[in-house]
Amino acid sequence: MESAQEIEERFGAAIFQKFPLTIVKGKGAKVWDQSGGEYVDFMAGIGVAIVGHCNPDVVEAVKSQAEKLITCHGSFYNDARSGFLERLASVAPKGLDKAVLTNSGTETVEAALKLARRYTGRKKFVSMKGAFHGKTMGALSATWNKKYREPFAPLVDGVEFAEFGNAASVAPLVTNETAAVIAEPIQGETGVIIPPPDFLKEVREICDRAGALLILDEIQSGLGRTGRMWASEHWGVVPDIMATSKGLGGGVPLGAALTTPEIASRLQRGEHTGTFAGNPLACAAGSAALDFIRKNNLPAVAETKGKRLKERLVEIASGHKVAREVRGLGMMLALETRIDIHQLLLDAIGRGAIFAYSGKETFRLLPPLVIDDSQIARGMEVLEGVLDAEDKRRFR
Ligand code: PLP
Repeated sequence: MESAQEIEERFGAAIFQKFPLTIVKGKGAKVWDQSGGEYVDFMAGIGVAIVGHCNPDVVEAVKSQAEKLITCHGSFYNDARSGFLERLASVAPKGLDKAVLTNSGTETVEAALKLARRYTGRKKFVSMKGAFHGKTMGALSATWNKKYREPFAPLVDGVEFAEFGNAASVAPLVTNETAAVIAEPIQGETGVIIPPPDFLKEVREICDRAGALLILDEIQSGLGRTGRMWASEHWGVVPDIMATSKGLGGGVPLGAALTTPEIASRLQRGEHTGTFAGNPLACAAGSAALDFIRKNNLPAVAETKGKRLKERLVEIASGHKVAREVRGLGMMLALETRIDIHQLLLDAIGRGAIFAYSGKETFRLLPPLVIDDSQIARGMEVLEGVLDAEDKRRFR
């Protein structure tokens, strides 16, 4: 019999960088392969499993909604959707209590860009060097990495890139033709980069002066991950449009562009709809995930556990020549090394822990916020072991 890996390779387009691991089961911060091998998951679908794999509340919500109604087009009203929208508004930054519902991160960015163009009547955008906003054509236009963009040019016209963290480089690019500035509060794909303390506030002021909107992409940093519900709260900045997705559906595809009633009202009926937008199954999962985040005060959990995890990472980094730096806030953390870590990621899997990349040389840790101390300890033991072996290989 062919393995799942062989069949995926045969029939699926080879579009992902793959690890040779078939995951068949998950619970909390752990996943299992088809032979029963157990792994602590610090990647969590790149931050998706924020309330844990197969969170019991999400599982229950999906089961009961699946028995009631799985699909309901947005041209009708639906109780699962209304319940979710109400909860979303209650956790949204002040004033952003209107939502455009979507099915992914990149689609959420598309909605944000269209909202900004429609509201301002302007065409141009300013994004950031190092930014990652997704891979559909609009979001891709605001994504920095040329490797992703160049093969698909021409993209959306009129996107310029400023230096992330340098407000002086943003100011000259924002004019009366700029619809919006788009930024991640903390850059995720480019190494978990935290901007200087005044950066977002200054960008907010630059936008206000020019009559441009501020879009914050909290797809990776939101929902409690950094120790606040939204990372932008660390700097006291509220955007005009906020993008959220990843953990929003408790693992089920779901996203939302949150905005003000005034901005939302410019989008006319029919101008930005989708067959699956506001799907009841996803919305039921989303309600369960949001309830779980609030009930268990996951932002506070991320802050406390993240602090300890970061201290441990700093300790590990300081004992290894191959390590360079530890960065991050809450449970959005990175350990940068001096080498390509591809083989180290594979070694970690071999020892029972899964980490994500953030650029070729950086381990990224986005674990489920329900991870417990013994699982953290186990993961750090694996990371330490992998770095020990690499140091031995290179320096002794
Ligand atoms: N924006 C940010 C900040 C992200 O981290 C990601 C995905 O990693 C996206 C957008 C795109 O989300 P998706 O992969 O769901 O399209």
